[in-house]
Amino acid sequence: MNNKQPTPSLYGSCHCGAVRITLPFAPDEATSCNCSLCRRSGGIWAYYALGTVSIQGHPGNTEDYIWGDRSLRNVRCKTCGIVTHWEPLDSKPGIRHGVNLRNFEPELLESVVVRRFDGADTWTFLD
Ligand SMILES: [Zn+2]
Repeated sequence: MNNKQPTPSLYGSCHCGAVRITLPFAPDEATSCNCSLCRRSGGIWAYYALGTVSIQGHPGNTEDYIWGDRSLRNVRCKTCGIVTHWEPLDSKPGIRHGVNLRNFEPELLESVVVRRFDGADTWTFLD
């Protein structure tokens, strides 16, 4: 739990509702990345240990996109096309994955610090 009030809902979904996400706890921080993929999807990423986020409708209602060094899959709803999360292809214990906070009510996004990450070039945070 964070110390901001009121606590926004931890439940989100893609636009059509076929993919439904429940976070285990509210994020304190999220990342906005400028890499060639993130700057197009507009995803704001919060990170969780793989397996701790409930994602209903995945993989049944999803498609994925794998690119670059092929280390992760970006997952989107098969029906509405909204990017919901990404996950590593090599799911080692303890590894993290990213959830797109754009799929949650705006209050959740407003409650976190969004850090700008230079995934396009230096691979460092810009703040
Ligand atoms: Zn959808």
